[in-house]
Amino acid sequence: MVDAIWAEALQRLRGTLSEQHFETWVAPLRAVAWNGAEVQLEVPNGFFRDWVKRYHLRAIEDAVRQVAGATAAVRLEVNRALDRPTTTPRPTSARPRAKRVEPAPPPGDPRYTFDTFVVGESNQVAHDAARAVAERPGTRFNPLFLYGGVGLGKTHLLKAVTCAAAAARGADKVLCLSAENFVNELIDALKRERMDAFRRRFRRIETLIVDDIQFLGGKVRSQEEFTHTFNALHGGGRQIILASDRAPHELPGIEDALRSRFASGLLVDVRPPDPALRLALVRRKALALWEAPEEAVIVFLADHWCENGRQLEGAIARVDAFATLSGRPVTIALAREALRAFTPVRTGRPTLDRIVGEVCLAFKVTRAEITSRRRTARVALPRQVAMYLCRRHTDVPLHTIGAGLGGRDHSTVVHGLAAIEGRLRDDGGLRAQVASLEARLTA
Ligand code: ADP
Ligand code: MG
Repeated sequence: MVDAIWAEALQRLRGTLSEQHFETWVAPLRAVAWNGAEVQLEVPNGFFRDWVKRYHLRAIEDAVRQVAGATAAVRLEVNRALDRPTTTPRPTSARPRAKRVEPAPPPGDPRYTFDTFVVGESNQVAHDAARAVAERPGTRFNPLFLYGGVGLGKTHLLKAVTCAAAAARGADKVLCLSAENFVNELIDALKRERMDAFRRRFRRIETLIVDDIQFLGGKVRSQEEFTHTFNALHGGGRQIILASDRAPHELPGIEDALRSRFASGLLVDVRPPDPALRLALVRRKALALWEAPEEAVIVFLADHWCENGRQLEGAIARVDAFATLSGRPVTIALAREALRAFTPVRTGRPTLDRIVGEVCLAFKVTRAEITSRRRTARVALPRQVAMYLCRRHTDVPLHTIGAGLGGRDHSTVVHGLAAIEGRLRDDGGLRAQVASLEARLTA
């Protein structure tokens, strides 16, 4: 009985969750019992249970209720027997510590730790995932792939993992570098015929962290070498953490084999800060600098200068310099004056590709679905929303929008735009959803 209920519930969950979430969090669950009121599911460990509870329990309950009745409940139990890492870690061939003359400098930067990272709705998942791999490297979330726009804290999180992992397991077990450094070191090693040393360096660590992986785009030789490094580490049960400015399937110039490795673990997006996080971020950064800033200064910065952490830090630095130079206290008048000459930097207009990606995420449909011939409401609505957002936020002509959404012709796009504009007038929920998408796209 429990098998039948769960099989049916799984079918439904496949339709409501993204494939990535489904495969990572739902597929590993085991349904073990049904007592007429409650389905008991087994999870591999406590972390997994907490994660599912926090992010997916509602969807699971909904699916179970549709199958087993409106009052059915779901219980999650840990069964450690399920908790086998995907691969068994090999012990690293650690050099005896006594031999070391000087201790290696700590690889982390104390300014960028989990303690100094401000958590909100838009980065909670990324933060939790980063913490999880810092604590338990090389198990389930491998690789962890973080992606999102500039200044949203990806590098900060990578450095926080580096600090935490170095503190827990030794600085020589963690290596954090940018993809650009990887490429430069590779070129250098090739030139000096020191590839063995290059490879050895990467293969003795437990956690490899590579920032701005999009830099590998178009660099065939580097991708080849990175693939070897990746395979050697991953195959040996070591942890890999990557950050990128976009999702694997949107990265230009990356070989398919590498792209699919990027996407084979846990993919997490970091989104622009929501209003609550903006306020919290401004507070944290302003209080580190100023003793008692006016509340109006905080609100002003949060409203206008906090599309991301980098923009905020720039604005605060300008206000601070202005106050110091003029010998005046930091007031709202001063902050406005200091920033008047600067228009907030825009990170550029969104592309059709990015709009489609964001819409897919927001509506929980895949790219394959949104560009398919299918016309069910579940995919037709997000498709029309994507048309609408492309129309409003890009200069892309209608026929190109249609082409990008599965080869639809000009008149289909015109029709879709008319339909969505009508729905937006009548449907407040949809309006709110589109507004939040627009905020994200223009951040
Ligand atoms: P990214 O790598 O995503 O472009 P960074 O990690 O370099 O962004 O962040 C830019 C700046 O903003 C850094 O100084 C970082 O500390 C700060 N920042 C961004 N998000 C947060 C956050 N949630 N909490 C604290 N600082 C943040
Ligand atoms: Mg960065």
